[in-house]
Amino acid sequence: MTTVAQRLNSVKATLPAEGVTLVAVSKFHPASAILEAYNAGHRCFGESRVQELQVKFEQLPRDIEWHFIGHLQTNKVKYIVPYVSLIHSVDSVRILEEIERQAARIDRVVDCLLEVHVAQEETKYGFSPQECMQFLNDFTPSQFAHVRLRGIMGMASFTDDEEQIKHEFAILKQLFDELRGGVLCGCTHFDTLSMGMSHDYLEAIAQGSNMVRIGTTIFGEREY
Ligand SMILES: *Cc1c(COP(=O)(O)O)cnc(C)c1O
Repeated sequence: MTTVAQRLNSVKATLPAEGVTLVAVSKFHPASAILEAYNAGHRCFGESRVQELQVKFEQLPRDIEWHFIGHLQTNKVKYIVPYVSLIHSVDSVRILEEIERQAARIDRVVDCLLEVHVAQEETKYGFSPQECMQFLNDFTPSQFAHVRLRGIMGMASFTDDEEQIKHEFAILKQLFDELRGGVLCGCTHFDTLSMGMSHDYLEAIAQGSNMVRIGTTIFGEREY
């Protein structure tokens, strides 16, 4: 049996020395497992359910950076806005508007990524690359003074077809580059391309990811 700390270090050893942020995805794992990674020096954790995050936030050290990576319901945004470090999963304009509203109330600026859907699986969530482009073309920063758009997040299809996965990551990278060279040109904080999970993060990095979200390889299988 390996420990969380050992698996965390094994994953870190596979990452480039610089330039790729590791989000340890701790959803469905207990606070004690997070603390093991914390005691090994890790500070950045990803959760996908608001209630679970609330409980863990209360239980665990305050210098943890909490990333939210799951689908957000409008009525729950207010619970995480006070302390969340980065919301990866902004999957609609409505959610971004609610984040703006709640962040304005407490005078905080919240870092956000737009979730872009490129995988083959059907989903109700996320922008298509075209919708993302369109949204940012029409974007009025003054309407969103309390959100800071940091980049985009995406997932590849759940498949063994490596060419397919590579192709989907390449689409996300291309969109990211197009936005940075175009509508978001000069916007230095738009710098994050979050892609890659346990089974595909090395390919994601090869395609230009600079933030990976890894759960199972660090914490083991989840029990839902
Ligand atoms: C659960 C989850 C992950 C982590 O997946 P693993 O396969 O356990 O590494 C990454 N990103 C998102 C959006 C997730 O929901």
